[in-house]
Amino acid sequence: MSNQRLRISLSVALFLIGLLVVCLIALFPGIEIVEAQMVNRNVVATAGNDAWANASFPVENFQGYTSGFGYRRSPKNRRRVQFHNGLDIAAPKGSYVRNWFAGKVIKVGDRGACGTHIIIKSGSWKHSYCHLMGRVARINGRLYIIDRAGGIKIAKNQQVTSGMRIGRIGMTGRTTGPHLHWVIRYNNRYVDPGAVLRRMYAKQSSNTRTQ
Ligand SMILES: [Zn+2]
Repeated sequence: MSNQRLRISLSVALFLIGLLVVCLIALFPGIEIVEAQMVNRNVVATAGNDAWANASFPVENFQGYTSGFGYRRSPKNRRRVQFHNGLDIAAPKGSYVRNWFAGKVIKVGDRGACGTHIIIKSGSWKHSYCHLMGRVARINGRLYIIDRAGGIKIAKNQQVTSGMRIGRIGMTGRTTGPHLHWVIRYNNRYVDPGAVLRRMYAKQSSNTRTQ
């Protein structure tokens, strides 16, 4: 083979490899999945074990998990892959939502896809609760999430205990049915709430055994 022909076939081969790599990256968000799973495993494995002994399941009248954390096909366009940053927990409309882990309310809002929502910070953890009932109101310069019928009035910057009722399951924001969209972040990176719950229950059942 002459040098020139070798060079041409080399460039064709390189071009094809490049094309293949581009296709793989475009079609499969695999690298990010691996990264998210690694973050999950490390974070959940090293999380404050004793602190989680008193953590609470976030929903009363639990009906089921309707969508898990991670990549999924878009319900509207099956060819599109999108990242679901939390866990969907279905319960009848009006069921109470309970704070997972003691902390401080850092945000209350009632706009966007999340609807009426509340974000709580517990150390390096941030947990969000979307699609709640009620609205945000400003009273004497302070922001509150208010759901009168449910007896909920929670202020921004308020301390909340674990298991405290912080809202009710509603249909605000972008949602097709009553459920809680529950998001957990550790140092601002998304963590699978399902993995957190499994770890939490493992801890709580081992505590029950030793008591
Ligand atoms: Zn969701």
